[in-house]
Amino acid sequence: MKIFKSAEEFKNYTKNLGKSIGFVPTMGALHEGHMSLIKRAKEENDFCIVSIFVNPTQFLPGEDLSKYPRRLEADSKLCELAGVDALFLPTPEEMYEEDEPSIKAPNRAGYFLEGFVRPGHFDGVLTVVMKLLNISGASKAYFGQKDAQQLLLIKQMTKRYFMDVEIVECQIVREKEGLAMSSRNVYLDNEQKKASLSISKSLFAAGATIGAGELDCKKIEGKMREELKELDVEYIAFCNRQFKEIEKIELKNSIILVAARLGATRLIDNI
Ligand code: AMP
Repeated sequence: MKIFKSAEEFKNYTKNLGKSIGFVPTMGALHEGHMSLIKRAKEENDFCIVSIFVNPTQFLPGEDLSKYPRRLEADSKLCELAGVDALFLPTPEEMYEEDEPSIKAPNRAGYFLEGFVRPGHFDGVLTVVMKLLNISGASKAYFGQKDAQQLLLIKQMTKRYFMDVEIVECQIVREKEGLAMSSRNVYLDNEQKKASLSISKSLFAAGATIGAGELDCKKIEGKMREELKELDVEYIAFCNRQFKEIEKIELKNSIILVAARLGATRLIDNI
């Protein structure tokens, strides 16, 4: 596995490969969710590349940028074992100048739900993803449905900026008990981890309620709130694929999102 720290060298390398490239951008502290994206990228392309970069511009002041889990050595081993062909590990200085253009997330879809609680977060996400996609030379890039709003905004950006890359959506990987895998789960102590299960339970309960024929979002939310009563819930939202809020579930075209806090840790999940 080749390792690159220089954007220019990495770009030259990918440009001259003459192979189809599948790209998985991550912030590291890799878990099975990330590994499922890598597996899929390997299956669908000649060449699989991964980046690990804890992107400072997507963290707000006071968020966990400095304590975000960093495990470069273990992550590199995992990538090597998974058969990743090249790993890109840039520094913030490599990726950013002090004063430079940046992408602005759309005013509506980029500034509600996650973008409301974390204003400017998606500006940082879209800016770094634009840079990484340009460096990668990938024809396909793999993102998780775990970060559903991010996925929608990235898809929209690549479409509206006429970029030559296909964004591939990958399903959420969960722990046995249901908790969606996340690098931030390491912040949870045993008690919080147990309590966090009500997030996925509430989403599965919503799924079952809809399966039984209930389409009224208020009523479904009521059931979810029962499951979530022990947690500090930031939002429960019902949206269609365009991330417009809905009052009635549109079958096969709806997403239910939850964000909740456990102590200092924020968790998001969706179905
Ligand atoms: P991150 O390192 O958290 O920025 O995540 C990198 C990529 O992995 C993003 O596209 C995430 O949506 C995806 N991802 C994170 N957790 C999961 C999960 N549990 N299942 C599937 N994809 C995931």
